Amino acid sequence: MADITAPAYRTIPIIPALKPGSMEGKGPFVASDKLNEALGFPGQLVEDWHDRAIAKMGDLLSKYRSLKVFMDACVHCGACSDKCHYFIGTQDPKNMPVARQDLLRSVYRRYFTLPGKLFPKLVGARDLTREVLDEWYNYFNQCSECRRCSVFCPYGIDTAEITMAAREILDTVGYGQKYSNEIIGKVHKIGNNLGLPGPALRDTLEGLEEDVKDATGIDVRFPMDVKGAEVLLVTPSADFFAEPHIDSLIGYAKVFHATGTSWTLSSMSSEAGNFGMFIGNYDQLRTIAMRIRQAALELGVKRIVVGECGHAWRVAYSFWNTLTGVGDGADPNDRFAQMLQKQLDHRYKQPAHICEFTWDMIQDERLTFDKTANDKYIITFHDSCNVARGSRMGDLPGGQFEIPRNIIKAVANNFVEMAPNTTREQTFCCGGGGGLLTDDLLDLRVKGALPRMEVLQQTVDEHGVNFMATICAICKAQFTKVMPIYGFDRKMVGGVHQLVSNAIQLGQK
Ligand code: SF4
Ligand code: SF4
Repeated sequence: MADITAPAYRTIPIIPALKPGSMEGKGPFVASDKLNEALGFPGQLVEDWHDRAIAKMGDLLSKYRSLKVFMDACVHCGACSDKCHYFIGTQDPKNMPVARQDLLRSVYRRYFTLPGKLFPKLVGARDLTREVLDEWYNYFNQCSECRRCSVFCPYGIDTAEITMAAREILDTVGYGQKYSNEIIGKVHKIGNNLGLPGPALRDTLEGLEEDVKDATGIDVRFPMDVKGAEVLLVTPSADFFAEPHIDSLIGYAKVFHATGTSWTLSSMSSEAGNFGMFIGNYDQLRTIAMRIRQAALELGVKRIVVGECGHAWRVAYSFWNTLTGVGDGADPNDRFAQMLQKQLDHRYKQPAHICEFTWDMIQDERLTFDKTANDKYIITFHDSCNVARGSRMGDLPGGQFEIPRNIIKAVANNFVEMAPNTTREQTFCCGGGGGLLTDDLLDLRVKGALPRMEVLQQTVDEHGVNFMATICAICKAQFTKVMPIYGFDRKMVGGVHQLVSNAIQLGQK
């Protein structure tokens, strides 16, 4: 870390000068045999990797029509090329979204199109060689699957889906990424990304009850495995102990307490995050999500609420219905999905985001706040990619942007926006999403944070902003790590429910 420095801010954000090859060989650590095999992947790069990779590509192309369209549709207009935070920060031309896509597209053309088979050079088609495979590993692990580039593509080409396909192929041939595969293994074995066993979790929650009692004089509970509770809260495991995440967990508990809502966490399903999406593997995605369904059925809850976690909310909002039977579209032939459908209370959104829950309670006037408790802050809001571009919230279009902002304005007096071309659907990734939040990628993460740091600095200079709220566990972890490298105080970042926690009125001491 000592030799990692922040790149200089750009005075006029323009297309960066190119530094070809600057991020060559800077991909993450490769997963060990043990980590790969625990997920059912080959331990190491298999001997027939070439044939297996092409076969897997063919399989994905036939399964996902969108992938084939994305391979064919690009006209190389260049509209996406300067929209990626990793390209802006690293200046490596292979981190331009279109160039990243072309790593896969060139091989697709060679093996799956007639012109590519007959005249490869004329159509930019390439054989899949070991060098190409290494290039895939390197650059598809320098994409956070944030989908910002797709907002600017006139054809709606989604680089994130292409990255997921490439990572899926790499895992299939035994060339997986250490960080993501290790985390998925922990979820299977222990139940959460951090490998926090049930008894440690219970201790942590009891400690929190004591802390809140000391601070407020009120008995706010953090219940675990309570059968018959109304709400099952599934939250990122970082909420249980990481800073500033834990302050949002305290905020959720206070909201449930103040509204008299019975709720529970689950020791079996103590993780909302789902890295199965990051590695593009449907089976892993489903297996991880199934733990939540099992916990909901065993506990008999009526509602499932998801904590502050960007990609978890995308998985919950967009995929849980068909994966697990939570929400509309449950498989009519899946007995357990149908059981869950009968059990859940359909007067409420299933699943719901904790911000939806809190905002509904604010609108129903079931919560009161002392906004002055947040007067020490001038607050801005960082939209997290997977919430902004991969999901929605509430009943109205754009609810995923408005609801967190509405909550902040309900609990605090000082709120300012960051530059409009860097917020809402055009938000920049924090630089650590998509399975890249690992220290072996710290250089990439620091460089990838550049566009967000530039705009934050602008709000600090113009408005004196001293708190950036966000609703993503990865954003919180990434920013607390990289912000000091840019000269900011790491305490400047926190959750929306941290602000709720500060201002909520629980009664007299
Ligand atoms: S990191 Fe985001 S902007 Fe960059 S290529 Fe990947 S999806 Fe596109
Ligand atoms: S904006 Fe779309 S069509 Fe244009 S280069 Fe990028 S991916 Fe291709």
